[in-house]
Order: sequence, then C-alpha cells, then structure tokens
Amino acid sequence: MRYCRRCILPDTRPGIVLDAEGICSGCRGHDDKEHRIDWTARRGAFERLVAAAKARAQGYDCIVPVSGGKDSWYQVIRCQEYGLRVLGVTWRTPARTEIGERNLREMISRLGIDHIDYTIDPETERRFMVAAFERKGATAIPMHMALFAIPIRFAVDLRIPLVVWGENPQLEFGGPEADRLATDLDLAWIRKYGVTNQTEWRDWIGAERLTERDMAAYRLPSEEAFQRFQPKSIFLGSYFKWNSEDNARVAAERGFVSGEEHRKTGVWSFADIDCHFIALHHFLKWYKFGMLRSFDNLSQQIRYGTITRPAAIDSIKRHGLQVPEDGIRRFCVFVGKPERWFWDVAESFRNLDIWRNDNGRWTIPGFLIEDWTW
Ligand SMILES: [Zn+2]
Repeated sequence: MRYCRRCILPDTRPGIVLDAEGICSGCRGHDDKEHRIDWTARRGAFERLVAAAKARAQGYDCIVPVSGGKDSWYQVIRCQEYGLRVLGVTWRTPARTEIGERNLREMISRLGIDHIDYTIDPETERRFMVAAFERKGATAIPMHMALFAIPIRFAVDLRIPLVVWGENPQLEFGGPEADRLATDLDLAWIRKYGVTNQTEWRDWIGAERLTERDMAAYRLPSEEAFQRFQPKSIFLGSYFKWNSEDNARVAAERGFVSGEEHRKTGVWSFADIDCHFIALHHFLKWYKFGMLRSFDNLSQQIRYGTITRPAAIDSIKRHGLQVPEDGIRRFCVFVGKPERWFWDVAESFRNLDIWRNDNGRWTIPGFLIEDWTW
C-alpha cells in the first residue's frame, strides 16, 4: 500500500494509480483542471449544448439528477443561469435525513423547479441491499444503480434532450487520462464506472428472491432506445471547473443548510448529509481499501490549497476511525438483520492484501499514520 506524495490517497482506492513521481491520478486530474483543460473553450461547448437542447426540447430542456445536497443546488443554479428549464429527478433514499428532506424541499421552492421524487418499494430495496452487502460487501449498489438508471430512463422516455450530472469522478477522484478529459456520462461510462461492482440489474434476479419485475426501477434504457433518441448526458464538472467547497458556498447563498451537527462521515459538514446510510457505504472502504471518507475530503482540500498535507494527516488522526454506529443501527433495522450480521459480513470483506492480524489485533503495515490507535 503506497500513498500519493502530494495528497493522502492510497493506491488501493479504485481509480488511484501512482505515477513514476509518486503522484496519484487524482492529483494529476487536478493538474489537468489547472493547466490543461481550456475552460473558456469548454464553456463555449456548454453554450452550444444548451442551444441544441433548447432547439430539441418539447417542454423541459434538461434533467438534473438531484439529492438536495450542495452539488444539486449548484447544478440547478448553473443550468438556470443558462436559461434551461429544469426537471429535477431524485432517487429517494429509504433513509433520507431531516436536513436532507429540508434541503430538497427548499431547493425545489427557492430555485423554482419541477421535481420527481422517485420511491422504490422498500421491500425490494431491502432485499437488494441484503444481497448486495452479502455478495459484494457493498450496501450502495442498489443506490448507484437506481440513481443512474432513473434519470437516463426519464430522459429517453420523456424525450428530454439533456441530462446534467455533477462532477466527472475520474477527473476529481482519479482515473485514466482519457476518462479524466471525457465529458459524457453515457451508457458505456455507467457500465464501467457506475459503482455497481461490474453488475447490472439482470445479475441480481434470483438473489433474495428478487424477480425481473422487481428490478424495473434499476433498468437502464436499451442501447438501441438510447441511440434512437440520443439524449446528451454530461458531467457539469467537465465544462466548469469543479470545486466542492465553492459549490457549498454557492448553495448556501441561496438557502442550502449544513453544519457540524449534520456531519455523518468524513470531515466535511456540508457533504454526505442527506442519507443515513451513506456513512456506512464509505465506512466499508476501511475494510476493503484501508481508507476513510476523510481521506477523500482532505485530499480534495490539499489540491484546492485550503489545507497542507501535514495538517491533513493531523486531522485524520484527530478524527480517528469514526464508526458510523447510528447508520449501522438504522441500516440493520431497515433490512431486518441483527447488528452482528453487519459486522460478520463486513469482516468477510477485509482485504488481506493490506490487513495483518497480530494475535487477534488487525493492523495495516505501512499505514499513513505511524502511531494510529488500532
Ligand atoms: Zn494525490
């Protein structure tokens, strides 16, 4: 396990590759943003997309997939700046927080958009989550599958010509060069990066008695249907330089609320606050990749220049492991399993390439922080 020399991400994180100088693909993405991408040209390209969408639209110009979080506000605000008529679409988490509900309601009324809050039968989600966790150690597979499939399906079915997603994850968090410079979130991207552990809806039929009909919400349109209408589906972060801290400020100016009392994971009080289960998803990275959500947050800040690497390491130490006990308890109640089950399954996904057991005590040799309390 090696760490980037500039930020604090380990090379166990998916998408993170260290180059000959020991700098990670996430930091190289930041270099692309600062020195390589011509943002003026990209903005011009966005203006052309907007014009094309307006010419094709028969009502709504674009779909913005939203959770109500800071990035959703920023996406809607940007789209409205360019005169786009927005339909907001949300996959409704079965564990929406109070602040998440509040921010979503306020976003709809203050920014003034039409909105679909798409709820999946909780029993289907319960079974799918149990299967995803037991088979892949990933509770968020149903969430990712639904939140990509629903807006794309609406774009094709309702004939809305443009879908405006948030950041390009390969550019922000690390990925191959070609994908960092890409602009489209199309079906090929979802198959490669949809965080569904290389599975699609069909692969889960039969698991926990899920039927083909149960999986309706998770289905993407067919390649043929997508190509016939050809909605343009893009990352906003490929057209305007993305900055999570700036987005939070832009959102707050219009009424988005966050705060330390809402923080569930990581070190940011303005992110990951709309779902009770999200901290759990990030916590499983501890077992699989030996990292925490705070590694992501602080690495972004190092790149933005708002914290130094030593201060970031100090912050990791201060925050410690942060076991999301409330999230685990709520998740177990939702899926109807004892908490013991959660810990047993999590343990079965411990990555033995990085973890070592010394007389019953698990440690990571070469961990970022030498005097970490294991
Ligand atoms: Zn880095």
